[in-house]
Amino acid sequence: MDCIFCKIVTGEIPSNKVYEDEKILAFRDLNPEAPQHVLVIPKVHLSSVSEATDEHIELLGYMQIKIAEIAKKLGVDQSGFRIVANTGDEGGQTVNHLHYHLLGGRFMQWPPG
Ligand code: 5GP
Ligand code: ZN
Repeated sequence: MDCIFCKIVTGEIPSNKVYEDEKILAFRDLNPEAPQHVLVIPKVHLSSVSEATDEHIELLGYMQIKIAEIAKKLGVDQSGFRIVANTGDEGGQTVNHLHYHLLGGRFMQWPPG
């Protein structure tokens, strides 16, 4: 499958890793939108939350918990941070491998653009 993030998982495309275990990988976004901008992805290919089924319940829960740990590692757990999963065309998704943006280190605007 021709998926950029699957290639990052295998190491075919290099990345600046922040956290890795057997289930997930977190790495710095190539074009950061905040002082801390990390992408958190499952190692298994899943296009988006729209494709998730009951078999992914444990994985998605696991990711939420790990994102909080990664936020702590980045030093933004106290100041605050934002988790975003752009989904589908109108959601602004450009890479079709489920990923959570973890953004921190500055004040976030609401509503998002
Ligand atoms: P989306 O637009 O799907 O919500 O987010 C995709 C993100 O992946 C973008 O923020 C973009 O900067 C990032 N990105 C795209 N290609 C690469 C890459 O090869 N390496 C890294 N580290 N980030 C990438
Ligand atoms: Zn993939």
